[in-house]
Amino acid sequence: MKTYLALAFALIAAPLFAMGPAKPLRALLITGGCCHDYELQSKAYVEGSKKFADIVWTVVNEGGKGTTAQIPLYDNPDWAKPYDVVVHNECFANTTDEIYIRKITAVHKAGKPAVVIHCAMHTYRAATIDDWREFLGVTSRKHDHQSEYPVTVLDPKHPVFAGFPAKWTTPKDELYIIEKLWPTAKSLATSKSEKDGSVQPVIWTNNYYGTRVFGTTYGHSNATWQDPVFIELISRGLLWAAGRTK
Ligand SMILES: [Zn+2]
Repeated sequence: MKTYLALAFALIAAPLFAMGPAKPLRALLITGGCCHDYELQSKAYVEGSKKFADIVWTVVNEGGKGTTAQIPLYDNPDWAKPYDVVVHNECFANTTDEIYIRKITAVHKAGKPAVVIHCAMHTYRAATIDDWREFLGVTSRKHDHQSEYPVTVLDPKHPVFAGFPAKWTTPKDELYIIEKLWPTAKSLATSKSEKDGSVQPVIWTNNYYGTRVFGTTYGHSNATWQDPVFIELISRGLLWAAGRTK
């Protein structure tokens, strides 16, 4: 009996030990476009996230500093294939081409997890189709003035908040006005407009045809990207989207 048990243990345990340590997470950061210091933001994310996970980053900063670019990355239908998760931190509000936009959403609809940050929410704002906004989980077309906005967490047990303080106020940032939270999205935290008192989702998750999307509308200023609370939030958001714990 003893021998049998030992043999059974060896058979069960061997594949577990053979798995070894988790593979690095392969993350693609897509950035560029109008109105923000994307070099600083990318560096802050890549460097800061290393504290929370073993991540191999690829950064694609294309499209210049305008609002209408169509970046060459998406010409390849397999553009996201080498990666476990994709981060959108770009700002092209006036790109409207439907075929181009659907080259992006199709990949996420097919299962590639995503993190969406700040001006990604105003990217393709001028497009008439809603595909991108459905993917984001929010529709936003404008923002309030820059200020330091207190953040109220609605779901403190969610893993993205593992390192989040009970009270956090953003460095100077923009409050995006959410005109629609899509039915597949769940608001995880809110801030209040100083203009009219309206409560706006600022951190959320979206279930995009079964694909995990994590989003935050904060991330305008360099000061936000230099705040370790923000970096930890978007790092844990990245892990959550990819279905990983480290
Ligand atoms: Zn901004």
